[in-house]
Amino acid sequence: MATAKKSATKKTETKKTAAKKTATKKTASDKVEEKKPAATKKTAKKKDLTVAEKLDSLYELQRIDSEIDRIRTVRGELPLEVEDLEAEVEGLEKRIAKINDEIKELETDISDRKNANKEAESAIKKYKEQQNNVRNNREFESISKEIEYQELEIKLNEKKSKEAKAKIEQKKEILEEAVARKEFRAEDLKTKKAELDEIIAETQTQEEKLDKKSKSALKAMDPRIANAYARLRESAKNGLAVVPVDRDSCGGCFNKIPPQRQLDIETKKKLITCEHCGRILVPSEKED
Ligand SMILES: [Zn+2]
Repeated sequence: MATAKKSATKKTETKKTAAKKTATKKTASDKVEEKKPAATKKTAKKKDLTVAEKLDSLYELQRIDSEIDRIRTVRGELPLEVEDLEAEVEGLEKRIAKINDEIKELETDISDRKNANKEAESAIKKYKEQQNNVRNNREFESISKEIEYQELEIKLNEKKSKEAKAKIEQKKEILEEAVARKEFRAEDLKTKKAELDEIIAETQTQEEKLDKKSKSALKAMDPRIANAYARLRESAKNGLAVVPVDRDSCGGCFNKIPPQRQLDIETKKKLITCEHCGRILVPSEKED
């Protein structure tokens, strides 16, 4: 059988070559006439595709285009996530720096008070020595008041230092939390960024490949069908121009399809569109 078919094809080819040879022999004036049948032949070849084949290639094209849409959606969300994380990490870094500054300020205040107290103590020491050499009571009382004043200063500084130390402890707790949160978010950011980079690298080639496939599939189609598809895809939600029947309904708008129409869709003898949304309908997907 196969051999018979092969030889038959060969015969046709030989015939074609012979015809071509004859054509070449024709004069230039005949060339205009020659073009017409060639064009008809080309159209005829495209028309040779059965409706079922046309529907299959349409649905295949839809699958390719839907995959391109999906890739674009995935990539569309990740950069935003990464951006949000970057902003959060940056905010936390600023907060950490601010808390650290506040702690430093409090520590400076404590050490300043410590120095002031040292000075006050040596002043008291000096005053006490002076008290040993006073000439009268009034002088003694006056120095006593100075000592008292210095002692009050020391007490005030001690109180303020204690308060500052408590504040530092509080701030250190907040700082610890912020640092932990920042580290967690920074780690998250690192992962998401790597994911994004990977997706970009991965999807770029995939997308380019699919884009090429889509374009050549569209080119191979009857221009009228290709145009209808492109128009439908542009206007339809989710870019769906070709949809399978889903539970007796259009897979695009979910309106019920009459049984006779479903039968026509199933046999793939005619190109049938949804009465409600205009999408091209193909038989329901069989689960395998
Ligand atoms: Zn519909």
